Amino acid sequence: MSHHPDPSLFRYAGNRCFDPAAFDCAAHPGLEDKDQARKCLQKNIKCMMDQQGKLYAEDRRSLLLILQAMDAAGKDGIIKHVMEGLNPQGTEVHSFKQPSAEELDHDFLWRIHKRVPERGRIGIFNRSHYEDVLVVRVHGFWKRWHPEAIDHEAAFWGKRFRQIRDFEQHLAENGTEVIKVFLHVSKDEQKHRFLDRLEDPAKNWKFSEADLRERGFWNAYQEAYREAIEATATDHAPWYVVPADHKWYARALVSQILADTMEAMSPTYPALHIEQKARLDDCKQQLLSESGD
Ligand code: ATP
Ligand code: MG
Repeated sequence: MSHHPDPSLFRYAGNRCFDPAAFDCAAHPGLEDKDQARKCLQKNIKCMMDQQGKLYAEDRRSLLLILQAMDAAGKDGIIKHVMEGLNPQGTEVHSFKQPSAEELDHDFLWRIHKRVPERGRIGIFNRSHYEDVLVVRVHGFWKRWHPEAIDHEAAFWGKRFRQIRDFEQHLAENGTEVIKVFLHVSKDEQKHRFLDRLEDPAKNWKFSEADLRERGFWNAYQEAYREAIEATATDHAPWYVVPADHKWYARALVSQILADTMEAMSPTYPALHIEQKARLDDCKQQLLSESGD
């Protein structure tokens, strides 16, 4: 029996984001326990390795996975486990932190565009331009740069969402396949994971008081996520809302989303022209006819 979840069930299509705590893995056939998830992950990694080789050789298009989540939802684990086995030469991971002074002196997409994966590569954004409609919105940072919009907030966000849609369409039309994943963790599960980081000395380094402060804005973040996902889920750059309370489930599902996307891209090894092929035959003959030194 094949073990794999159906990504289309998690692709955002006007449905409200579900409650991740209420998500019942067993009710979704194909990925009911850790053992099935492990097999699913392994199968998908193998598929991705195969497709990655072709994508790299083809050297025409790239794939960009955008990962967004609340703290401790498991972004790092996804990157580690899902990209395992891929050729590091063909992958690029970039984490977007608080913008530098130079970055703040440009429009919000400036630093993002520079990091879009090169042709032939698979890129992952650990956070992204979506921070500019999430943390920037929740804390009102945008007001410093756009005081003229303070009395027209709804219009401001409408415009920014449109700019994001246009940007992602531009990427899609220029050879970058964009997929976006929201790792949807519940407030309760985040609490457990923070407590774990506080109690386990080996995990203390992962805890930051800033994360606890952000937790205080939980509802504002959820609302900002909901609006952003709704406004930017498009055919050329879909959002997947991935239930993240079970790490094994989220990892297997994201691997399935990536493997399916790469299969649909169906990269191929470049075919040689007849003259190029003849040239290779000449080279081969040359090598074979070398006299021993
Ligand atoms: P981890 O904690 O797992 O290492 P992280 O992505 O939370 O990963 P941090 O260095 O803890 O990394 O946090 C980066 C911070 O930068 C986040 O709080 C994020 O909201 C913030 N950030 C990212 N982009 C922007 C932005 N454009 N404006 C303001 N803050 C931003
Ligand atoms: Mg953090």
